[in-house]
Amino acid sequence: MRIRALTLDLDDTLWPVLPALERADRDLDAYLRQHYPNVARAWPIPAMRALRAEVAAERTDLAHDFTAQRHITMQRAFNACGIDEAPLETLWEVYFSARNSVELYPDSLPALQRLAGRWPVVSLTNGNADLDRIGIREHFAHHICARDTGIAKPDPRIFVAAAEHLGLRPEEILHVGDDPELDVVGARDAGLRTAWINRHGHPWPGLLGTAPDLDLRDMSALVDWLEAQG
Ligand SMILES: [Mg+2]
Repeated sequence: MRIRALTLDLDDTLWPVLPALERADRDLDAYLRQHYPNVARAWPIPAMRALRAEVAAERTDLAHDFTAQRHITMQRAFNACGIDEAPLETLWEVYFSARNSVELYPDSLPALQRLAGRWPVVSLTNGNADLDRIGIREHFAHHICARDTGIAKPDPRIFVAAAEHLGLRPEEILHVGDDPELDVVGARDAGLRTAWINRHGHPWPGLLGTAPDLDLRDMSALVDWLEAQG
């Protein structure tokens, strides 16, 4: 296969996302305890998470927009405490800043540096990671997120949007990501080539159909493979 560009998932492909999400919950809780103790008491972290899940289940029209889901969650938590207007901008800054304090896997940055210039890389995420805040924007030609396109992976249309932006045929693009369904199945259905970043060495879940074109342990293995293709 002749690969001319990459689309690249972010969360759990370049860094583990759970520690950042947990830190964001803790930071928000600490902020509430200091400035809005009533709200903090009414909505300890597990209750806030349950409320967020409730909002997500209710607002399926916002399935592509985690930011909007979280704003609604915060507003509801404050409303339930008799506060009409939640300080959403401040709350969001507290949350978002921790959410983007990610710790890259050790192979991620060297791999992005090795890719630089040789293969255009487009980030393709359902999440709300911010490349500028994380400090890796320079390694990407373009950023596509579900929030902006209104379409989330595994819907093939978000991959087609990336191909159109790159001006390439889908089969000239290798999509790289950790999630068998969101990344591999979604990209395959759109006609892209697929690289599964399988950091824990799991077997491919056969019920998802054909295995990915590449099953790789980490980002270094990806660049090794690309370089070997010449
Ligand atoms: Mg991922």
